[in-house]
Amino acid sequence: MTTTLPHPVHSIPDRIRDVLLKYWGFDAVRPLQNEAISATLAHRDSLVVMPTGGGKSLCYQLPPLLTGQTTLVISPLIALMKDQVDALRLLGYPTAALNSSQSDEETLQTWNDLRAGSLRLVFVSPERLFVGNLIDRLPELGITHIAVDEAHCISQWGHDFRPEYRRLSDLRSRLPKVSLQALTATATPRVREDIAQQLALKNPVNIVGVFDRPNLTYRVHQRTDLVGQTIEAVERHKDGATIVYCISRKDTESLADDLKRHKLKAAAYHAGLAVSTRQRVQEHFKQERLDVVVATVAFGMGIDRSNVRCVIHAAMPKSVEAYQQETGRAGRDGLPAECLLLYSAADAMKWSRIIELSAKEHETDPAQVAHQLHLLEELRRLVTGSRCRHRALSEYFGQEYTPASGAGCGACDICLHEAEAVPESTVIAQKILSCVFRAAGCDPDRPLNYGAKHIVTILRGRATAEVTRRGHHQLSTFGLLADVPADTLSNYIDQLVDVGALGREHGQYPTLYLTSLSWEVLKSKRQVELRATRATQAAPESSATPGAESAAPFDTGLFERLRELRRELATQFGVPAYIIFGDAALQDMSRVRPTSLETFGRVKGVGERKVAEFGERFTGVIAEYCQSRNLSTNNGPTGGTLRRAIRSTAGSKSPAKMRSFEMFDQRRSIEEVAKEVGLTPGTIHEHLAHYIEERKPANIHTWVDPQTYELITTTARKINADRLKPVFEHLAGLVPYEKIRITLTHAMGSRPKGV
Ligand code: ADP
Ligand code: ZN
Repeated sequence: MTTTLPHPVHSIPDRIRDVLLKYWGFDAVRPLQNEAISATLAHRDSLVVMPTGGGKSLCYQLPPLLTGQTTLVISPLIALMKDQVDALRLLGYPTAALNSSQSDEETLQTWNDLRAGSLRLVFVSPERLFVGNLIDRLPELGITHIAVDEAHCISQWGHDFRPEYRRLSDLRSRLPKVSLQALTATATPRVREDIAQQLALKNPVNIVGVFDRPNLTYRVHQRTDLVGQTIEAVERHKDGATIVYCISRKDTESLADDLKRHKLKAAAYHAGLAVSTRQRVQEHFKQERLDVVVATVAFGMGIDRSNVRCVIHAAMPKSVEAYQQETGRAGRDGLPAECLLLYSAADAMKWSRIIELSAKEHETDPAQVAHQLHLLEELRRLVTGSRCRHRALSEYFGQEYTPASGAGCGACDICLHEAEAVPESTVIAQKILSCVFRAAGCDPDRPLNYGAKHIVTILRGRATAEVTRRGHHQLSTFGLLADVPADTLSNYIDQLVDVGALGREHGQYPTLYLTSLSWEVLKSKRQVELRATRATQAAPESSATPGAESAAPFDTGLFERLRELRRELATQFGVPAYIIFGDAALQDMSRVRPTSLETFGRVKGVGERKVAEFGERFTGVIAEYCQSRNLSTNNGPTGGTLRRAIRSTAGSKSPAKMRSFEMFDQRRSIEEVAKEVGLTPGTIHEHLAHYIEERKPANIHTWVDPQTYELITTTARKINADRLKPVFEHLAGLVPYEKIRITLTHAMGSRPKGV
């Protein structure tokens, strides 16, 4: 006789899945997340290295929900900490931060919660940890695990060393019983080893992910028309954000101006701008009221908008590490995104000058300067090479890369065959070289050399004052390439310099000179191949981006409508838009088109709390959209197949809302209701608007004082508005959105449509 043992009802994987589904609305943890979570549950030290978008945060967010203990997270940036806390709270996750930006009241509350053991995560900055006796009190507060986020900041070999991280090397000796988890996206082995050593990790579990980002399409195009090429790329990604990186502050401003002149809404960002300007740009970018930022590398850390669909490098950055870091900001949500580098050989020269000048100024160690020049050369080689970009990047970081198909990665300019040989390349090269020779006075021993710009002017047959003064309009090469655009010609010169078929002086006057290879080309003993970029066809999304999260079609009109709603909610809640829902969730909504809370809860990325917070708004918009277009709704599950039991049913009110209505009947304040029902004030305002519409109370003085009510209604009448935004803007932010919404609901008898 055999007995069947019952499945353990609460095995760890089951519990992980239950928690994941309840809070995040995902069906499964990724394999490496599972390893990282298991290491923490086994109270082991670990080093978690995953690329951006790999899902590192879940590795420290999930375990405390299972253990019921509190984890301390050390994080370098206060702005990011705030976003994380806001995002987790929207999931119903008990968390708080301790840092210098908080009021005394908030700090007190956090301490009370900490002592009561009611928080699962507490975020602190490294400097805060060593203020007072916080670090010594951790054991008595029941903190047994510490996660060090952005752990590469501890290493001088990394790209973002922070002296305040250095003090973390005391953690291990001061807290011998605590388990430590270091997390980073930095791929270099040297930095990884340094982290483990600095933090004195004890026999750590090493979890190293695959660095390739399959959802990114890498393109390196010759820079022939900066503004035109940039605009073209931005237009390919109108459904999301684009970051354009420039080398200098001046370049960011002039390119941003060019884009604005072409009617694109863009802003410049660099460390030289006023703090308030920078803050405004960041804020607008996060809340999706601004989609294009032209920036120096100062823009990035602290920006975790997940739907950056395109990162453009207007010029080559200074190392592969920097390139990886900056392109890493694209497609964090796992959906397709593009990284376009507009290359010119002049960029490497510009960088070497910057490196040398700064070395002189700071008296940098020559070995360090040589190292920087070496890193620059590595990137130049990668960029000018003709190997698959995914492969070249993976191999640079010491990982093998196996493309999904024999035809290559399907997601880089090389595998997509976007660069083609220019017909008659050698003849064109000979014309250019011959012009350099003739302009220099045809004397190889005592040449009078000129820069690329002058050569281009002669070849294009432009008799400028400079050209005629030197008699160069009489050269036989004058006007020899008159039909080639100037930018393209100077790019050809760059390419010749790149392969050594032309020399260029370093330093202040980068004049051109002939090399021995030049002579071989001139004498037709050697061929050269110039390359030009074919126009990029369709958006990369529609071409194969084999590694992207989900390629299933969705209703784009509905997606746009839901983005609008998300933007509105982000403004209302004062949080970044992606915190409300990521693009992946909005796309799934546009596929499933849920009109009931139950189906809404089945959308990937929608946890229980978000059903309660946002379900009605989203399903309402979806129902309205689908009804007017006769579209099917509540379509079968796509990604997830697991069901969640949601108590409330379609159409009727959720229990939370019924409770809110009861409390409104008793004229209780928004704050009281929010506290009692356990939802945010933003959602309680939603409930209130619904309540006012349904119950039509005689006045709403409990929630909006009579003067404000009067101000809002007269403004609306004056500017003849029945929507919120014009009123909000007219009042210049004097009155919060929610107050306007409920006042207009009361005055008009129904909730205002749209924003
Ligand atoms: P990282 O910190 O490594 O850059 P994040 O933690 O921000 O990555 O996660 C990247 C994205 O992946 C987020 O949009 C997150 O919601 C999503 N994600 C993380 N884990 C999972 C999972 N198990 N299933 C589905 N999506 C996930
Ligand atoms: Zn490729």
